[in-house]
Amino acid sequence: MKISKRAKDVPPSATIAVTARAQELKARGVDVVGFGAGAPDFDTPDYIKDAAVAALKVGKTKYTAAAGIIELRTAIADKLRKENGLEYSPDQIVVTIGGKHSVYEAMQAVLDPGDEVILPTPYWVTYPEAIKLAGATPTIIQTDKNNSYKIRPSQLRKAITKKTAMVLINSPNNPGGFTYTPEELKAIAEVLEGTNVYVLSDEIYEKLIYGDTRFVCFASLSEDAYSRTLTLNGFSKAFSMTGWRLGYTAGPLEVIKAMGRLQSHMTSNPVTFGQYAAIAALGEPAEQAIENMRVEFERRGKYMAERLNSVKGVQCPEPTGAFYCFPDVSSHYGRNINGTTINGSMDFAKALLEQANVALVPGLPFGCDNNVRLSFACSLEQITKGLDRLEKWLAQ
Ligand code: PMP
Repeated sequence: MKISKRAKDVPPSATIAVTARAQELKARGVDVVGFGAGAPDFDTPDYIKDAAVAALKVGKTKYTAAAGIIELRTAIADKLRKENGLEYSPDQIVVTIGGKHSVYEAMQAVLDPGDEVILPTPYWVTYPEAIKLAGATPTIIQTDKNNSYKIRPSQLRKAITKKTAMVLINSPNNPGGFTYTPEELKAIAEVLEGTNVYVLSDEIYEKLIYGDTRFVCFASLSEDAYSRTLTLNGFSKAFSMTGWRLGYTAGPLEVIKAMGRLQSHMTSNPVTFGQYAAIAALGEPAEQAIENMRVEFERRGKYMAERLNSVKGVQCPEPTGAFYCFPDVSSHYGRNINGTTINGSMDFAKALLEQANVALVPGLPFGCDNNVRLSFACSLEQITKGLDRLEKWLAQ
């Protein structure tokens, strides 16, 4: 049967084998501790659900403008002005079917075959595939733990060629759990001055920052940064709305128009009653619901990192954002644990699951084979249990 080259070149998710095996074990009644979650373990706050129900009841059940209803784009523009100091008109905003769709659409809108996109490790697994689906090539830059896995301005400067069309910045970061400081982002912005390079700034974990971490939008750093940045955000993580599929991009008018044109043929508008719920999400009562979730994540992240660092041969920076710990476990590579030789993060994840019933995500598909990702979108009780098992397993 003929399958397009484009589709054939998209690999199955490298993490799927571990996830599928964890599910299989669970179905058999094995008590698996799961650190794989990419979604907050909180329900969507009631006032957001109520707004969706109310919208349904008054008949908000038909098509809308492809880029989203003007009321929602206005509410997003207000949010960006009030919270982030950014001036975008509603025309400069497109509401998409989740942040993931924003990534895809932004790349389809600005990239051509032959273009290069600078992608620092660790990266979210969707980015390289979206880059390749646009015909472009990822230029992967290896970062190191001594710089908390952040790209250095000198690395960026070296990586830029005539073909560079975009740089991807994701802060707070999945899977790294780190957040760039405003000064670090400024230094990156300065390297880009005088180039034609876009920045796709994925800010979807904006609300989940810890300790004295400060969040700034890349586009707010300078006029130059504003003119080249596509600001990507969404409702999934901040409002615990992963299943609603609502994201957005704000940026230069021409780019947003191009994304809207693509969207009008690909999907049409995001779900209509969901858009009304999204307006409610951005309203006042949101503040407390977000803060409660953030505080709980902060407590768990701190505990998880402390515990991981106390395990022999494991190094983990304390997360400053998102809900992931990304420890380096490579000092255990080359060891034989219970008859299994651990030669990398895939072996590590597989053996830990089989032998100690703890599911985590190998770092290889994020571009960092020395690491593994543990999500703390689960209860403290589960975290304690899972880390007890991990510690015992590695102590053998
Ligand atoms: N960006 C990053 C870095 C993510 O981790 C995710 C979700 N895993 C997304 C974007 C997209 O989220 P959604 O499509 O649910 O809005």
